[in-house]
Amino acid sequence: MVSAVPSFLIPMIFVGKADSGLRWKDRYWVKASLWIIIFSYVGNYFWTHYFFTVLGASYTFPSWKMNDVPHTTFLLTHVCFLFYHVASNMTLRRLRHAIADLPDKLQWVTEAAWILALAYFIAYLETIAISNFPYYEFVDRASMYKVGSLFYAIYFIVSFPMFLRIDEKPGDLWDLPRVAVDALGAAMLLGVLGLSYSLYFGSTCFAACRHKDLQNMAAFSTISLCPYSLWRRPSPRKYSISCSDGSPTSIGSHGSKAPRKRSGRLEGAGKSMEDSVQRKMEQFYEGSNGPPIRIVPIGGLGEIGMNCMLVGNHDRYILIDAGVMFPDYDELGVQKIIPDTTFIKRWSHKIEAVVITHGHEDHIGYPSSGFPYSNICIIFYNGVDQKAFEENGIFVYSRLKVFRTRKKFIAGPFEVEPIRVTHSIPDCCGLVLRCDDGTILHTGDWKIDESPLDGKVFDREALEELSKEGVTLMMSDSTNVLSPGRTISESVVADALTRRISAAKGRVITTQFASNIHRLGSVKAAADLTGRKLAFVGMSLRTYLDAAWKDGKAPIDPSTLVKVEDIDAYAPKDLLIVTTGSQAEPRAALNLASYGSSHSFKLSKDDVILYSAKVIPGNESRVMKMLNRISEIGSTIVMGKNELLHTSGHGYRGELEEILRIVKPQHFLPIHGELLFLKEHESLGKSTGIRHTTVIKNGEMLGVSHLRNRRVISNGFISLGKENLQLMYSDGDKAFGTSTELCIDERLRIATDGIIVVSMEILRPQNAESLIENTIKGKIRITTRCLWLDKGKLLDALHKAAHAALSSCPVNCPLSHMEKTVSEVLRKMVRKYSGKRPEVIAVAMENPDGVLSDEIKTRLSGSSHVGVGISALKKVVDGYPKRNRSNKMQAESNGYMHLDYTSQQNMEVDDIEVGRLPPNEETTTTTSNLADGVPSGSEDEEISGNHSFHHLHP
Ligand SMILES: [Zn+2]
Ligand SMILES: [Zn+2]
Repeated sequence: MVSAVPSFLIPMIFVGKADSGLRWKDRYWVKASLWIIIFSYVGNYFWTHYFFTVLGASYTFPSWKMNDVPHTTFLLTHVCFLFYHVASNMTLRRLRHAIADLPDKLQWVTEAAWILALAYFIAYLETIAISNFPYYEFVDRASMYKVGSLFYAIYFIVSFPMFLRIDEKPGDLWDLPRVAVDALGAAMLLGVLGLSYSLYFGSTCFAACRHKDLQNMAAFSTISLCPYSLWRRPSPRKYSISCSDGSPTSIGSHGSKAPRKRSGRLEGAGKSMEDSVQRKMEQFYEGSNGPPIRIVPIGGLGEIGMNCMLVGNHDRYILIDAGVMFPDYDELGVQKIIPDTTFIKRWSHKIEAVVITHGHEDHIGYPSSGFPYSNICIIFYNGVDQKAFEENGIFVYSRLKVFRTRKKFIAGPFEVEPIRVTHSIPDCCGLVLRCDDGTILHTGDWKIDESPLDGKVFDREALEELSKEGVTLMMSDSTNVLSPGRTISESVVADALTRRISAAKGRVITTQFASNIHRLGSVKAAADLTGRKLAFVGMSLRTYLDAAWKDGKAPIDPSTLVKVEDIDAYAPKDLLIVTTGSQAEPRAALNLASYGSSHSFKLSKDDVILYSAKVIPGNESRVMKMLNRISEIGSTIVMGKNELLHTSGHGYRGELEEILRIVKPQHFLPIHGELLFLKEHESLGKSTGIRHTTVIKNGEMLGVSHLRNRRVISNGFISLGKENLQLMYSDGDKAFGTSTELCIDERLRIATDGIIVVSMEILRPQNAESLIENTIKGKIRITTRCLWLDKGKLLDALHKAAHAALSSCPVNCPLSHMEKTVSEVLRKMVRKYSGKRPEVIAVAMENPDGVLSDEIKTRLSGSSHVGVGISALKKVVDGYPKRNRSNKMQAESNGYMHLDYTSQQNMEVDDIEVGRLPPNEETTTTTSNLADGVPSGSEDEEISGNHSFHHLHP
């Protein structure tokens, strides 16, 4: 505004010599401004996206937008263009003057050369200018300077000579319509030349744009045949969509930008077409164009566990790791959480292999629990338990391949080289993935153990070599980024265990992670040294040991272990019991023993417990309670950092930093960990001098291009879309599905808030004329679970409320209405009473006989809870019903029940129904159809089933 307004005001106030005395419409500055307004408006509105796509640029300043072009741009352009064109007019006139003596052809050539030079000069200047402006982003700045300016110069090559023509010939003064048409013509010529440029020279950004340009061109050629159709076409924006949404948005170190969303305001066919185009654009970037390296995390980013990541070169992918996550115990009955199987299924034609880095469940658990595709080859390192796959029956042996470190193999589009890392189980590796478009390092889970028990050290040399080769993208484990310093070696732990076990006088009990085979080896060594016999208590210990034994890697021969039932036969000083339960899992051995309910062994005050694990965040309170129980028994517990009884398998901050400094990747993406850890790891990466770092979450697709020239400031990471992934749950047996399918929320709600089941046998009133007693009555039974009833007080209140709610229902309402009313009332009542929101299931069924006989019984026994008139009893005796029979006795009763069954009103409403039913059926439950005859959504149910069992979900 600030810049544009003066350009109008100044000539208005200071009228030039030539314009003075002329009418507004004849003044030159008005014509010139109009021409520039039209030309720059059309250029901006229709061609900006297109030009920016070819340039590989995007602007990001916050502003109101018109066709996704910020308003600021329109105003700025007007001023700039006015200035450029005045400059061009002045110089061209001077030039013409100077060369007036030359031959015509030479004059023409000189003028053309000047226009070209000036156009390129101005375009270049502006390109440089906007590139320093913080609100523009470029895919490739280098080529944009060189070629992009030339492309932009087309604007001026067209406009300078055309603009000059306004009022140029004396005696041929233009009127405003001619100016307008001329400006439109210039804008159109600009479009034609622009499209020809991209057709013959290609675009300066990556190839993805070219393909889109072709679509633009098709759209454009239709338009250019008839400029008026511009205003009638339902979707003139169609061609700009592919530019704005299709061109990937840069994210990363230069500030994250979410993919821009467009607000479509078009109606009808055009709108739906735009919607579908937009939907496509908002999904993942597919196809072989675009950034060559692509990352799609399916799990493990933003959470601990479930590591699963698609890594691709163009449109061919491999899956690195396929893990599961073990839920908190809040998620009742759920044993495993699994990545989105439907997504993997949808993309299975693009996934050419699954490569597993190591044997932890959070990296390999998925294939054995519902991995959707059997045609994908699984490649894994030695230590992975193959049996799990085979047992599952999904994978045939021929699809399983074993790799070795430093031995390259081909998986999908990559040449893969596994390199050895140290971790908390044997045989773990990181992966180097090479393709024509760059080199990727995926570390897997790792720490640096300088003296591992199996002697297989962390392969630093491989990383040093890799650094020389150049790494496009490195992805590294973030689990322990918050722990300062370095992890201790497994051998330090082994020494500490030996020390403690030798010092113990009584029985020694250890607890650790069952998968940590090295640790079990250390325990075994210490046992041997002190002459103790080993006993394993806990299923998973044996499972892992057996797997390792088969693989030839077990430190213990399973057959030499003391049998659990023989434990008591050994003197305490001769025994070392290894248990599960370091996380106080409900069924684990040590936890059961802490309750005194383990069948295998009883804890005593002479026992020494060596806690050789860490408390996983989230389990603290449970573990603390278990340890308190053990303390109460009197056993000695040895744990804590200073005891050196445990070391993590994931590198601490010092190690993470060392590796970042060795590898020096172009791009760094933290993986494995909660969002907090990922962000922290990102800043660690930045602090080591890595320029391109970013954090993404599961379901976000990231594009990476290798940067050939390090001096070029460019955005290496490009966001390519987002997919809402759905977690899948497994309850350990057959049930498998989304959280909705497994009713996870409901399980939680029922567990915390209880459940009420209400069964209602319904009796509708028969007498429409009796104004006092015209209400529904019912026999109500209420059952509750997991609900505090305040010694029955709440239950009584619920009964009363249910009866009241029922009698408030219209006499002819459908059963579903009664169920809804009653359950809502009861839910509200409990909420008021005890603050809980129980699940209420109300089931109503027509059963007048049931209600009556119940009444008779209670009346006769004299302990009526639900009152009923004597007349009711009489009616039953006399033969039921007798219409229009009023009953005064009823009014005196509790008023819970009404006997007149088929009201006049109902008969009138339901003539057809009545005609259809046998007359004598009126007295049976089927008459509910009559009563239910009011228009209602649940009529069908009522008529077909008569009993409706509605599980009402709030
Ligand atoms: Zn691991
Ligand atoms: Zn892991």
